[in-house]
Amino acid sequence: MPGFELFGDLERKEVNDVLDNGVLMRYGFDGMRNGHWKAKELEKALEQTFNTKHVQLVSSGTAAISVALAAAGVGAGDEVILPTFTFVASFEAVMMLGAIPVLVDIDDTLTLNPKAVEAVITLKTKAVMVVHMCGSMGDLDVLKAICDKHKLILVEDACQAIGGTYNGKALGSIGDLGCFSFDFVKTITCGEGGAVITNNEEYYLHSDHYSDHGHDHIGKDRGAESHPFLGYNFRISELHAAVGLGQLKRLPEIINIQKKNFTILRDALATIPEVTFRKVPEGGEESYGFLNFFLPSLEVARKVSDKFKQNGIDACFHYYDNNWHYVRKWEHLKELKSLYPISEEVKTGLAYLKVAEFPESDHFIGRNISCLIKLSWTEEEVKARAAKMVEIIKEELA
Ligand SMILES: *Cc1c(COP(=O)(O)O)cnc(C)c1O
Repeated sequence: MPGFELFGDLERKEVNDVLDNGVLMRYGFDGMRNGHWKAKELEKALEQTFNTKHVQLVSSGTAAISVALAAAGVGAGDEVILPTFTFVASFEAVMMLGAIPVLVDIDDTLTLNPKAVEAVITLKTKAVMVVHMCGSMGDLDVLKAICDKHKLILVEDACQAIGGTYNGKALGSIGDLGCFSFDFVKTITCGEGGAVITNNEEYYLHSDHYSDHGHDHIGKDRGAESHPFLGYNFRISELHAAVGLGQLKRLPEIINIQKKNFTILRDALATIPEVTFRKVPEGGEESYGFLNFFLPSLEVARKVSDKFKQNGIDACFHYYDNNWHYVRKWEHLKELKSLYPISEEVKTGLAYLKVAEFPESDHFIGRNISCLIKLSWTEEEVKARAAKMVEIIKEELA
């Protein structure tokens, strides 16, 4: 998955444009920048990639989620429903606004189980955040219908899913707002960076202002711009945006390589009857950044994961035992360890987390192994890897 595996002259050329004039900031300094507006250019290019009306670049994927929620008016005491299987950032982004993350079970898509979502909707629920973990999606039509019925905002955390589609539409462009990350290990990287995408003009303007201290970005003189509301600094720099412009040009190539490598591994594992795969809903096309498969039991998955590591099959994750992507080990959040006081409302709203059990999520994540698909493998390497994986799994099943 990581775009840093394909890196070089395209990125260097874009970055050099910025270094040549020294304007590292995305706003202002019009006279000095020799016509280079890398962040604006990347936003336009991403609008085309996602076929969406608006893109707002920000400083990270975590920032993108906070900005998206803030843009839609999510704040103190509001509940946001999200899955037990996600990167911890999705949870943090909700907390940052004083809102309450309500975690619910996933299903065999490894994303939100729509029934679990419906079961926890209350009068306080403001948004549903679907997370397209490992490049694939849940049943977005059903989730969207639930949100419409209950007048909830649908936010897509598509940080791991650039290049994936659902019914021909880019992941991230289906909900009210979509969020992307361009951190160092994502499919395309800016070093650090993120994006909020939306077809909603008001949410876009909110994102644009909120991510730059509330600046309205109207007129020429930055100092004289007015501030219609409170904002913070979640800006991306021109240098980071320049890297992203180079990387974005590689996206079709990256997805092609991922699909090719993914298919070799999947076809090999599919010869083992006990191995099953993550469900991809009808109409869905994943981004092939990870291959996710299920083994018959938690015990077998643990053993296979250990054996993979011992045999040099790297970058395969058994998320059940991982600290960052699954609720089971989020002790610091369950105990609400915070540097500063957390409001009583959020404390009360989060009390469930200390005692909550997620048997259905355990059932899927316990048996799941997620293998990162690298871009740098030769065909021989992928085939050798596939053969070794099959051998290890068969040994453990015997
Ligand atoms: C990477 C990631 C994020 C956060 O992105 P950063 O750019 O690292 O802040 C959020 N959600 C998911 C699912 C991610 O994988």
